[in-house]
Amino acid sequence: MIANINYVKEVMGELKAKKKYGQNFLIDSNVVDKIAKNACDKELTTIEIGPGLGALSEMLLKYSKDVEAYEIDKDMYELLKRNISDERLHVYLQDFLDADLDKYKEKVSICANLPYYVTTPILFKIFESDLNINKITVMVQKEVGDRICAKAGSEDYGALSIEVQYLYDVKTEMDVSRKVFYPQPNVDSAIISFRPIREKDREFEQRFFTLIKNSFRMRRKTLYNNLKDLYDKETLEKMYLKLDLDNNIRAQQIDLHTFMKIYKELEK
Ligand code: SAM
Repeated sequence: MIANINYVKEVMGELKAKKKYGQNFLIDSNVVDKIAKNACDKELTTIEIGPGLGALSEMLLKYSKDVEAYEIDKDMYELLKRNISDERLHVYLQDFLDADLDKYKEKVSICANLPYYVTTPILFKIFESDLNINKITVMVQKEVGDRICAKAGSEDYGALSIEVQYLYDVKTEMDVSRKVFYPQPNVDSAIISFRPIREKDREFEQRFFTLIKNSFRMRRKTLYNNLKDLYDKETLEKMYLKLDLDNNIRAQQIDLHTFMKIYKELEK
């Protein structure tokens, strides 16, 4: 098992984990097994971001057809090649943000213990790709997980929550203590899963997400003030009247369903 404290400490004692690449390695094989089991489908390829020493990769191989892993750090890439010899593991020494995802034509699973410094860009690359996704399962900082899963009215609710929840059924699979990583980060984590719930419609998504981003532009301002540069006064007033919205309502009080109605009225 790669996910064990003695091995990880021994290797990382010599190499030193690279903070700039967000290197915190899993050392609890039970947690790793749970993530992999949750993420994979035996019939499908799993794409992994940041395999590191291979703790998660070896479990993904157990539950997937094969694994395509993208690692940015040459030291990790070489160690991984030594650690796992299974020919169903294909490792690319490449920044995932530069990966060509168009080559995957079949349905895939995605799984990662994500490097925290680049979580949001990686997630948006996946969301905005044309991948045919079965399920995404990722370990993220607890605070990011809370933002993704937040509902209207909560502190954490924002544009990220709405965009993600429009596209996916999102779920916090489990909270994870900082103690299962080496070196230990100073925040706790959570495993979040995403299952697609809609056919892709790029043009609609682009316009709808522009409305969402603008609605949250200044959190302390009312929805009306955030939207008044995007739509004319008459269109906005008509929409408020039709949907019976309070003039002082703020974006963080509005749920996804109501935002979809707002979009429909404004784009009439
Ligand atoms: N999967 C391993 C585990 O769970 O023990 C390592 C996880 S560690 C949090 C993140 C890994 O992502 C590191 O191996 C790091 O080098 C790699 N990484 C960081 N930025 C990356 C990027 N932009 N593209 C691909 N890999 C990256």
